[in-house]
Amino acid sequence: MPTIKGTPVAPGLAVGSAHVVRARPDAVPVWTIRAQEVPSEIARLHGAVEEASAQLQHQQEIVRDTSGEQDAGIFAVHRLILEDPSALSSVEAKISEERINAEAAVQNLIERLKSAMGGLDEDRVRSYSADMSDPWRAVLDILLQREQESITSTVDRVILAAAELTPQVVTFLPRDRVLAVITESGGRFSHGAVLARSFGFPCVVGLNNLMARLEQGLQVLVDGDAGTVQLRPDQEAIDSFLEQTRRRVERREVLEAQAGLPAVTPDGRAMAVQVNMESLYDLRTFDVEHCDGVGLLRTEFLYMERAQFPSEEEQFRLYRRLVEALEGRPVTLRTLDIGGDKQLPYFNTPKEANPQLGWRGIRISLEWQDLLRVQLRAALRASPHGDLRLLLPMVTSLEEVRDVREIFEGVQTHLIDQGYEVERDVPLGIMIEVPSTIWVLDRIIQEVDFVSVGTNDLTQYLLAVDRDNALVAKIYEPYHPAVIRALAEIATVANAAGKPCGVCGEIAGDEAVAVLLLGMGYDHLSVAPNFLAGVRYAIRNTTITEARAIVERALDAGTAAEVQTLAKEVRDRLHRRLLEDKAGISSDADGK
Ligand code: PEP
Ligand code: MG
Repeated sequence: MPTIKGTPVAPGLAVGSAHVVRARPDAVPVWTIRAQEVPSEIARLHGAVEEASAQLQHQQEIVRDTSGEQDAGIFAVHRLILEDPSALSSVEAKISEERINAEAAVQNLIERLKSAMGGLDEDRVRSYSADMSDPWRAVLDILLQREQESITSTVDRVILAAAELTPQVVTFLPRDRVLAVITESGGRFSHGAVLARSFGFPCVVGLNNLMARLEQGLQVLVDGDAGTVQLRPDQEAIDSFLEQTRRRVERREVLEAQAGLPAVTPDGRAMAVQVNMESLYDLRTFDVEHCDGVGLLRTEFLYMERAQFPSEEEQFRLYRRLVEALEGRPVTLRTLDIGGDKQLPYFNTPKEANPQLGWRGIRISLEWQDLLRVQLRAALRASPHGDLRLLLPMVTSLEEVRDVREIFEGVQTHLIDQGYEVERDVPLGIMIEVPSTIWVLDRIIQEVDFVSVGTNDLTQYLLAVDRDNALVAKIYEPYHPAVIRALAEIATVANAAGKPCGVCGEIAGDEAVAVLLLGMGYDHLSVAPNFLAGVRYAIRNTTITEARAIVERALDAGTAAEVQTLAKEVRDRLHRRLLEDKAGISSDADGK
């Protein structure tokens, strides 16, 4: 019953048989053509491009009808890629100059699109280049007369498995036939991922060697929250799946009924429960009225969605749209946090032996100050349109904070001189992700307006465990007592200084951890959209006194297992509470 760990893209659980829609491209045959065959080979190429374009149009119409104009736009872009005359003429030139078959010439273009992505590693190249090369792969399929595998004869709903997460894969089947989508590669924020999230399928990507381990029809269990896929789950795993599914349905009912209630403890302590966002698409995944703003906007993903650095104007429009969409609620914009595991396809950074300890986050912004200035200008220009805050990633020292503040103030003065209207008191905060910051926090806190703990990175740096390395995934442990104690220490220092403190790492979405953070003195949490309602519920159903007692026990723990046992206790209590609420809802309904 092997379990493969990947990257969670869209939440939910599913069990069913796998349907493999596309293997990795096979070796493409190359053969020489005679001079007089060149025109007919080019005509064959044109025919395949037209057919691929017609298929895309068909898919565009289906998605427009089922999901709306905006999602369908991806297919329009793919058609434009096919219509790009320079790409087409480069393939034609390859055929006529090298006298090779159309398949080989198209394959050559696909390879060139990949290598144009520069010094990225294999998986990232696949993820970023997929959107550019995918329409051309469809052309290749047609040329090679590869029959797209059809599952029309299958009656059951299936788990779609593919090498790459492309929009085509996600829309391969009608939505009511798909239980989940799993892929070997593909980025968390590729367009395919965006569609999977908006269609509501559980989805996991980055599953190593998935295609080699799968066979058609194999039973698999997908956990879109944990990012795991179990092959051939045994009865015990299926029973646990059924139990979890039953709990989820019950939970959803109660949480939906209470989604609009404020996150205030029974004894009156308010916690701002905010949302983490990576793309404007995310706005569709939650109700703005049910959150207290955006606690973390990972702007690097807005940069990743583009073919080059977004201009000041482009960024300004984006940030403005977002702050306006949040209707006066805070929007915490984190400055560009690239490096480590996040690369921009158009920004070549040197290969590093230890990228997680290398050129990342604020270190890049302070070296490439023009990039930072453009981003700050765009953000400050958007500031009068809502409640905008700025957050700096990967800060390790007070000097960095001072350097950024100087740049920030310079940008602000310059904008005012140029006649722009800007908010004068935009709060400037830092992320606490590097242990060194904790030990100078009493000093740093005097010079920032708020702090937000990035537990994803803080855990990796405290425990010396690469967050992306599958070999050490088992010991990447956010429940480690060192992480818990570090979190408590940060809140103590921030509270003593009277500065707001929050947590925006993934762990804040765990309702038991949310209770712990409440007890430690945090005042804002920022979580992925699907955890909003659960965290708000946990806060509403825990008194500050109860939360503090739990913190005391957590700080006493010597092992992660002890903290986990405590967390389970909290979850079980909340679940019992939820069942009582559910009983209340049912009897209300009966009484009507
Ligand atoms: C974190 O490190 O916890 C965080 C929120 O930032 P990211 O996951 O984007 O590195
Ligand atoms: Mg981080």
